[in-house]
Amino acid sequence: MRNPATVENTAYRQLLDEVGAFVYTTDAQGHFTYANQLVLALLGPNLTLEDVLGKAFTDFVDIGENTELRDTDLRVLRDGETIAREETNLIHATGELRCYWSMKKPLRDADGAIIGMLGVSHDITEKKRLEDKVREQKELLDAVLDNAEGLIYMKGADRRFKYANRKAAAVLGQPVENIVGRLDSELMPREAADAFWEKDLQILASGTRYAGEESLVDANGQQRHYWSVVVPWSGFDGMPVLIGLVTDITELHELKEELQRQTRTDSLTGVANRRSFFERGEQEFARCRRHALPLALIAIDIDHFKRVNDVYGHPVGDRVLRDFTDCCRQMLREVDLCARTGGEEFCILLPDTDLDGAYVIAERIRTMTIACRPCAEHPALGITASFGIVALGDGDARFEHLFSRADHALYAAKRQGRNRSVVLGEGMTDAAE
Ligand code: GH3
Ligand code: MG
Ligand code: MG
Repeated sequence: MRNPATVENTAYRQLLDEVGAFVYTTDAQGHFTYANQLVLALLGPNLTLEDVLGKAFTDFVDIGENTELRDTDLRVLRDGETIAREETNLIHATGELRCYWSMKKPLRDADGAIIGMLGVSHDITEKKRLEDKVREQKELLDAVLDNAEGLIYMKGADRRFKYANRKAAAVLGQPVENIVGRLDSELMPREAADAFWEKDLQILASGTRYAGEESLVDANGQQRHYWSVVVPWSGFDGMPVLIGLVTDITELHELKEELQRQTRTDSLTGVANRRSFFERGEQEFARCRRHALPLALIAIDIDHFKRVNDVYGHPVGDRVLRDFTDCCRQMLREVDLCARTGGEEFCILLPDTDLDGAYVIAERIRTMTIACRPCAEHPALGITASFGIVALGDGDARFEHLFSRADHALYAAKRQGRNRSVVLGEGMTDAAE
């Protein structure tokens, strides 16, 4: 019959061989009193427990300059410390460096005296390798995302940020670690955050990508413009998230605005050009029609302007045109629109103004034009202009009708001798001074 203790020992040994960790015990001098299969295999090929009992780790493994290992054993065996830490061992048989999470603990007798050491180590080499790889990939990804030209962020369905790259953090005016986990409304003005969130909800509901222009006042109080692409994505845990890829297009936006302004403006005089005049005219026409408000139009043509060019030269002619425009502007309100509709032809749109009001303004401009001396070098140079005045009537089905009636009135002024304002009442076929 077998000794029950031996049976028990065998069962324990089998158990310890299966735990997947290095398990050993030593006496107070650091000599093995037990080593499981993993330890035996580490110490050398084909070793049995009997081969190692009573011997020290260093009898099998050359630890070279590694005095740390010896020191930790001393701290456990002499000072009674329990030490748990990461260890790196060179496996001489394979020349491989392996990492362990090692726990060393003193063994004590009933009186508390140290009689040896219990050691348990897990080989964490693969885990470390994986961790290193993940860290490396994260660093790589961070480097790419932080150096991307755009703002990149990730927001959860709970309105909280999950990620922000360096540029996004700079716009929000917070370090990245203060952004992750925070609500959008904590990081930007409430109104802007709510507007973004409303759009986000639509993207989440539809599950489709959004792309469009957006504006935001940044942390420095500057209005900035962005091209924003928001992509819905079902996160790792199946919870939906939004990935935002945002490009700062402020400069491009300003350039576009400037170009649009230029396409609406006459380059010589700085007032609206013909195209923009007709756009505004149609809008005002529709608005005044809808609300039954008065709307007046003055068509202007400078008299004998060709002579100015012929006598004084084209550059002086240009100066006269600029000067005349300034004169008109001085007479107008903010809501009025002065436009250069042709070479020496101008139009003034006067919202909420009737025929009488428009006549008064035309006459003021006409009188001022006569008095004006646009060129100091040519004190004799003066000009006059003719004015045709109309107001919106029931017969004007479209803005062009109103415009063409103003032109009619203007030609009547020319016919009647120039330097005058002619009013064309509604339904009148000919104009009266
Ligand atoms: P009317 O009293 O009948 O209007 O005579 P006018 O000479 O003003 O009319 P006309 O249409 O014969 O001549 C207009 C002139 O305006 C001809 C053209 O050289 C001049 N003009 C048009 N655009 C410009 C410009 O941008 N600069 C200058 N300096 N002259 C211009
Ligand atoms: Mg003309
Ligand atoms: Mg003219």
